[in-house]
Amino acid sequence: MPRPARRQLEQTIRKSGLRVTDARLATLELLHLTASPLSHADVAGHLAKHGVNQATAYRNLNDFETAGILRRTELGDHVWRFELIAEGEQTNPGHPHFLCVDCGGISCLIGNDSIPKDIELNGHRREVTEIMIRGHCGECD
Ligand SMILES: [Zn+2]
Ligand SMILES: [Zn+2]
Repeated sequence: MPRPARRQLEQTIRKSGLRVTDARLATLELLHLTASPLSHADVAGHLAKHGVNQATAYRNLNDFETAGILRRTELGDHVWRFELIAEGEQTNPGHPHFLCVDCGGISCLIGNDSIPKDIELNGHRREVTEIMIRGHCGECD
């Protein structure tokens, strides 16, 4: 993905009603440049290089999620991961994710229109929050 313009990142933060800070800009830039969802630890590890402490990194991710900029997803390993909500993806479950059972790598499966938004369970329609597919990614055969 191309490096996003700083102005564009600032606009995203401002539109959500949050104050623009260097830590928030660095967080959004990282998520723009990464093609798969990142955990708290991934983001905090990267931001430490920018002098951002771990508590701030965590708080910013949570603020972004509350503001509707990021989606938080759990892919079966009890780790919350965050990714940008793409244009036109405002409703859950967004897109499915592919988890490689060999290397643990996670890929976004974007552009899949066949995801059900809800399913029938015990005679009631139930919201689908996440879809995960497991398999072999092909890079670690
Ligand atoms: Zn793999
Ligand atoms: Zn994704």
